[in-house]
Amino acid sequence: MIKYRLICKDCNITFDSWFSSSNEYERLKKKKFLNCHNCNSSSIHKTLMSPSISTSKKNSMMDKKIQKYKRAKQTILKYQEFIKKNFDYVGENFAYEVRSIHYNNKKMSKGIYGTTTKEDLKDLKEEGIETEIMPWIEDNEN
Ligand SMILES: [Zn+2]
Repeated sequence: MIKYRLICKDCNITFDSWFSSSNEYERLKKKKFLNCHNCNSSSIHKTLMSPSISTSKKNSMMDKKIQKYKRAKQTILKYQEFIKKNFDYVGENFAYEVRSIHYNNKKMSKGIYGTTTKEDLKDLKEEGIETEIMPWIEDNEN
């Protein structure tokens, strides 16, 4: 069974009607068996259903999330730019480099940044070396 909202083109009245299938609707319409119960006109048409409201709401929520993510990404990228300009990249030697700065009073004009493991971070913290963890977006993601 399929329910259609029908509209009479002559008096503009709308009403719901059940059909066994969309073919049945077409068949009845062709034979002019569909009549307006108000003015008896046979100019009956299907109205376009608009069930898309909930979908578009969902979409706009998704849009907002994407926008939020994009804004956050912009912020992260700005940080990254700042860090790249003002810090030296030491790659995976981060823990080693941080320690050599800490223990040997190595003179650094710039701070350093790099990658390290969670275990290393934990060790560094226990050794009293403060590090900052920040989200990092690889450039090739763009
Ligand atoms: Zn009518």
